[in-house]
Amino acid sequence: VIVAAELTWTGEAFESGVRVETDPEGRILRLWRDSDTEAPAPTHRLRGQALLPGFVNAHSHAFQRGLRGRGETFPAGAGSFWTWREAMYDLVSSLEAEPFRALCLQAFREMRAAGITTVGEFHYLHHSQPEVPDFAFDRIVLEAAAEAGLRTVLLQTFYKTGAIGKALEGGQRHFATPSPALYWQQMDALANRLAPHQTLGGVVHSLRAASLEDLAAIHQESRRRGLVFHIHVEEQRKEIEDALAYYGRTPMRLLQDILGTAEKVTAIHCTHTTPEDFAWFGGTGGTACLCPLTEGNLGDGLCNLIPFREAGGRVCLGSDSNNRISSLEEMRWLEYAQRLRTERRGVLRDEEGQLSKHLLYAATRDGARALGLETGEIAPGNWADFVAIALDAPDLAGARPETLLDALIFGASERVIAGTCVGGEWSDGG
Ligand SMILES: [Zn+2]
Repeated sequence: VIVAAELTWTGEAFESGVRVETDPEGRILRLWRDSDTEAPAPTHRLRGQALLPGFVNAHSHAFQRGLRGRGETFPAGAGSFWTWREAMYDLVSSLEAEPFRALCLQAFREMRAAGITTVGEFHYLHHSQPEVPDFAFDRIVLEAAAEAGLRTVLLQTFYKTGAIGKALEGGQRHFATPSPALYWQQMDALANRLAPHQTLGGVVHSLRAASLEDLAAIHQESRRRGLVFHIHVEEQRKEIEDALAYYGRTPMRLLQDILGTAEKVTAIHCTHTTPEDFAWFGGTGGTACLCPLTEGNLGDGLCNLIPFREAGGRVCLGSDSNNRISSLEEMRWLEYAQRLRTERRGVLRDEEGQLSKHLLYAATRDGARALGLETGEIAPGNWADFVAIALDAPDLAGARPETLLDALIFGASERVIAGTCVGGEWSDGG
């Protein structure tokens, strides 16, 4: 298949006259220019559209889509992450298999409509009954993701304690992974029933949810198997206070002491991570996954990303609670949060003053790296995962090729999305 759009994002800029050749397996073979004498004729023309790598949503809890519109009134006074979490546990306690499937499918379809072609589903709601380790919801979440046609990394989550040193309580009992041995047994079972475009990642929910021994064991075995490793870190100040009280160290410092390296490690949120801790995490190859819309909704705080980026750290993006599913908004709020924090503009720019392409990398290439996938770039060897943008959309009126990415990120809504392609398969009339 030869895809030819009016404009194609080739990594640094939009170019015209590009033809993307893909193979029958759904990977990109090579990029041709119209001027190449041997360039094959286009078989799939995207007239009036721009082609970008499909967005990578590196952190989602699909079922939390069920909380949208709930908990936004505050009769008992100001809420917090912790009062929101109680509402989430109420949802968990009442959720049966079919409503769970419907919520997952709803979230995944909305992602696809928002230009997302890959999801990292950080999945911890494993069981249909409390304390009965049936892992019934693992299969359902994979089926829903396949039905929506998303490339999916099931970030299968280890969750054993309700708080540091405490047993699981209430809704948390649906999350239980009683031991690393049982966790890996379930990982092996899942590996045998993955659909095409589905892979697995190793996860410990947070420092609240596992002992240091179990954290070390899950990380070590993930590394041995060549899997990425994800964990929630330092979203809330209380989480840091608890770790300091119990272990005498911050959660990020504990990761440093226990994991040794941040290679293939993605830390979700890092809202309150110190510059010293960020120096280690960024310096040894870690990725920070920020979720600006969820962090805003939950009132988490504003991360200081500057020392992390100076240390060489990479940033990716997640829709997390799925209160709103929009990679375009996540990209703009990644920068806006930094502007509001510093009272400056262009905080995440590079030495040349470029900004938007780095926001796009967070929503594509660097999310793919965090998930261990060859996608997120329109380049040979990558999966043919694309989003097509309608250039005649009113949101983009007045944009030229040089300003198109800025207009898209800072001024456009999902109505500009003309279609998506996963592994060479188009949907949505793209
Ligand atoms: Zn999360």
